Amino acid sequence: MKGKNALITGSARGLGKEMAITLAKQGCNIIINDIESMKEDAEKTLEEIKALGVNAEFIAADVSDFESCKKMADIIKEKFKTLDILVNNAGITKDRTLKKMTAEEWYPVINVNLNSLFNVTRNVLEIIPDGGRIINISSVAGISGNFGQTNYASTKAGVIGFTKSLAKEVGKRKITVNAVAPGFIKSAMTDKVPMELLAQILELIPLKEMGQPEDVANAVKFLASDDARYLSGIVLKVDGGISF
Ligand code: NAD
Repeated sequence: MKGKNALITGSARGLGKEMAITLAKQGCNIIINDIESMKEDAEKTLEEIKALGVNAEFIAADVSDFESCKKMADIIKEKFKTLDILVNNAGITKDRTLKKMTAEEWYPVINVNLNSLFNVTRNVLEIIPDGGRIINISSVAGISGNFGQTNYASTKAGVIGFTKSLAKEVGKRKITVNAVAPGFIKSAMTDKVPMELLAQILELIPLKEMGQPEDVANAVKFLASDDARYLSGIVLKVDGGISF
């Protein structure tokens, strides 16, 4: 993967940051993307990545906004020319049972987690060369559903539909499109889960532990590699066996 250019959305922190570091260790040049308010975290991540000896850049852009993504694509075109690996990772939660959910909790989740796939991918597709890789981060919630997450689970199921359809469209250019569906991974997102609920969840996970960010990053690394050349339209679950 040495010398390949990879964009990971929402990568100032969390799973995205881990993916960026993992791909940088493979020799990829890295484009960190996040929202402007995450600049401080993004710059720290950028330093860690540059220390690995690869070329890296932070581009502030809001993936829920088409024009913002267009500007990001223009910067990538100018500075990197091509984009070999795209990881659509940015995501948010605003959990609430549907009975109490407000429009302010529904629409932003759809915009950041699902509309972003159109906004980002549509704008960079022309600079993804033959043999490129698109990896979309879904969730087990999009496969099995989850209490209090009608908004989030809808987006993550949508990510799978997008993945499978785009895989059919771009296969002739040897571009693969796959999804990774993490389960409960140690992160800021799952740190919000109350302790009692977490204990119940751990009971349900066959491997009896939460996943680590590296577990997800390693799945992304595999799908981005030449070893995964004949896999397209798949959903790789990284969930300790919790979903079926
Ligand atoms: P996180 O909140 O730590 O990181 C998400 C990043 O996305 C943040 O840096 C955030 O600023 C950024 N982001 C948010 N809105 C954005 C926007 N509009 N434009 C650009 N960037 C934006 O979350 P995480 O746990 O690292 O999750 C990463 C992905 O993995 C998400 O898609 C999430 O749904 C998915 N996921 C996580 C888990 C888990 O257990 N943590 C499980 C399943 C799926």
